[in-house]
Amino acid sequence: MNTSILDTGVKVVKNVGGFTVGRGSLMQLPTFVDARRAVSGKNARVVYLIDEFFRSQPETMRRLGNQADDIVRFVEVTDEPTTTGIDAITNEIRSQLTGLPATIVGFGGGTTMDTAKAVANLLTNGGNAADYQGWDLVKVPAVHKIAVPTISGTGSEATRTCVMTNTQTGLKLGMNSDFTVFDQMVLDPELTATVPRNQYFYTGMDAYIHCIEALAGSYRNAVGDAYSRETVNLCRQVFLADDMMGDESRERLMVASYLGGCAIATSYVGVVHPFSAGLSVVLGLHHCVANCIALNALGEFYPTEHREFRHMLDAQGVKLPTGVCAGLSDEQFAALVAATVVHVKPLTNALGANFRSVLTDERVTEIFRSM
Ligand code: NAD
Ligand code: ZN
Repeated sequence: MNTSILDTGVKVVKNVGGFTVGRGSLMQLPTFVDARRAVSGKNARVVYLIDEFFRSQPETMRRLGNQADDIVRFVEVTDEPTTTGIDAITNEIRSQLTGLPATIVGFGGGTTMDTAKAVANLLTNGGNAADYQGWDLVKVPAVHKIAVPTISGTGSEATRTCVMTNTQTGLKLGMNSDFTVFDQMVLDPELTATVPRNQYFYTGMDAYIHCIEALAGSYRNAVGDAYSRETVNLCRQVFLADDMMGDESRERLMVASYLGGCAIATSYVGVVHPFSAGLSVVLGLHHCVANCIALNALGEFYPTEHREFRHMLDAQGVKLPTGVCAGLSDEQFAALVAATVVHVKPLTNALGANFRSVLTDERVTEIFRSM
């Protein structure tokens, strides 16, 4: 049988509708929003979901160009999104609206952008967030939505999912749907200047890790590979540079985040993300720091990238949390194993269908103990 470099499990890919990029491009946001007001009827309001960090940034808030009767709602980011948290925000917004908003602006990191995506789906589809966790369960198009990332790395601005933890079952799964993809995007690297250094590193590494995992996997195609290779290139330029947060580094990382999101839309992650998910689900660690802790312990699977990652940590003087699994009970280790090996698709992508012959319960536990 002929095999093609375009053969992959992913057949249809939807990209963000359009974008503006560059320093100062936040200036374009009011134009994008006003275009939506113009087609949505004179009473249509705009919903701004904003990372709570910007509560204390009046200069940035003034640049949103919102009108008096728009809804400006800060999103708490102490915890990553949960299904009940999303339902609560959706109900609150619905109760303030008559009809649908002209657009929803998601202004912040992965947590805030994912919240905006989920709320936009729920406002038109009804029901609860948990009803749509899975693949292609969203029935009708969402409310129009605009992404304004203020920290780079997750690629949420580009992907067709919005990750959330199910409060009842502990399942961490997004609404994977073409309707989840943003319609418009504003990529202004000036917005990321205020991100704390460690957080900047952890979240930025999400783009790098998505792509090294994709490139090492077996579900590959030429489009995804091209996105992944350039993402990894840009991350190297950023994290091996003297200052990962200089103006040009922040520009590069913002582009890497977007391209990394496009990459992952056409491929799968590998071993790091399942271990990271275990840490998030069982120990409540945030996604991006959990990824870094996981990659740090998974050198045997990604030896070259692991070495490079250690260089990046040194070059930027970033410290990782240590001893995160110290003193855990047998039950907790069992829960970590279960929450890791459940990720069949990425583990098959990385290690083949027989991945459990490598990742036995004992081996997975040992890896967690080494963190
Ligand atoms: P985040 O949105 O949780 O934000 C991290 C921290 O950075 C917060 O304290 C926030 O207030 C702060 N912050 C953000 N912008 C700032 C700025 N400009 N200045 C100062 N502080 C700022 O972090 P994240 O790492 O971007 O997102 C993690 C979430 O993204 C997780 O829930 C994860 O599951 C999700 N995720 C989603 C996708 C997707 O495709 N949808 C992909 C990967 C990860
Ligand atoms: Zn990730």
